[in-house]
Amino acid sequence: MAVSEFGLIHRYFNRSLNNTKVNRLGVGDDCALMSIPDGYELAITTDTMVEGVHFFENANPEQLGYKLLAVNLSDLAAMGAEPVAVSLALTMPKVDERWLEQFAAGFWQVAEQFSVDLIGGDTTSGHLTLTVQAFGLVAKNRAIKRSTAQVGDLIYVTGLLGEAGLGLKIEQGVQCQNAESVLKRFHQPEPRVKQGLAIADYANACIDLSDGLASDLRHITDASGVGACIEWEKLPLSASVLDYIQQTKDWSFPLVSGEDYELCFTISPDKVSQISIDCSHIGFIQKPQGLRIMRSGVIEPLVYQGYEHFTC
Ligand code: ADP
Ligand code: MG
Repeated sequence: MAVSEFGLIHRYFNRSLNNTKVNRLGVGDDCALMSIPDGYELAITTDTMVEGVHFFENANPEQLGYKLLAVNLSDLAAMGAEPVAVSLALTMPKVDERWLEQFAAGFWQVAEQFSVDLIGGDTTSGHLTLTVQAFGLVAKNRAIKRSTAQVGDLIYVTGLLGEAGLGLKIEQGVQCQNAESVLKRFHQPEPRVKQGLAIADYANACIDLSDGLASDLRHITDASGVGACIEWEKLPLSASVLDYIQQTKDWSFPLVSGEDYELCFTISPDKVSQISIDCSHIGFIQKPQGLRIMRSGVIEPLVYQGYEHFTC
């Protein structure tokens, strides 16, 4: 017999709460209840993935469950917030238990890794659409915003750039060395939660890289009323990405390729000695607005728009 809506919620998405100090009531009531400790505020974010827009038809459900949660935790990381709870809204054309089992496995892998409780959600029928809302705790007035970069700040990124974008190219048929690890960066990004919490003590501004460095750094500079210069030679690139650039002569690739979910942050020069995470210095915040790229000693304006929904 086909499983009911409540049966499938119970089977796949109802697990006991771990963080009962914060998460007071989870799945099963009309609302979940959270209790915010004194001195903290709640950071809230939502990300949706729509079949045909964010992922291919027949995408691997385990990877979808993993990525859906990972990209939401990445937003919390970018604000320096500690993830504590999420809700999950699932819209599916039909109940496919094999799909659900695999989706849940990917989802719970990330939830367990980051000790996040699933406290509620919604389950409906329709075009495959996956939404997570994530909740994190951040000490009052300590969240790292986009709007507070200062002229003279140094710009840093965690990890490597262009890996996920190259993973997408591999999915589309491009051959590359080290394909397996590159593909993993595309399907299973690692939310930089620890790094976000660490830099909250000294970063001036931060964003997670979902649309690509050029477009995301632009959000920081626009919000802060400043500009920036990126030094191409300082970008952290793997041998696979360097090889791809050499073959295609597309040096802008690591600036425009998306979905790395690394953190890009700015920091005042006098605080650089406090940096406690692995990261690379890639440029400077400057007074003149707009983005510039320095490559082989030549500085040029960098004009690029990331992917935007509703524009053709
Ligand atoms: P209501 O009709 O009152 O909005 P629902 O029938 O949609 O409640 O959901 C019943 C319970 O199951 C609620 O506590 C809701 O938060 C939870 N829930 C529904 N779908 C999901 C899901 N996909 N994951 C986790 N919890 C869910
Ligand atoms: Mg209700």
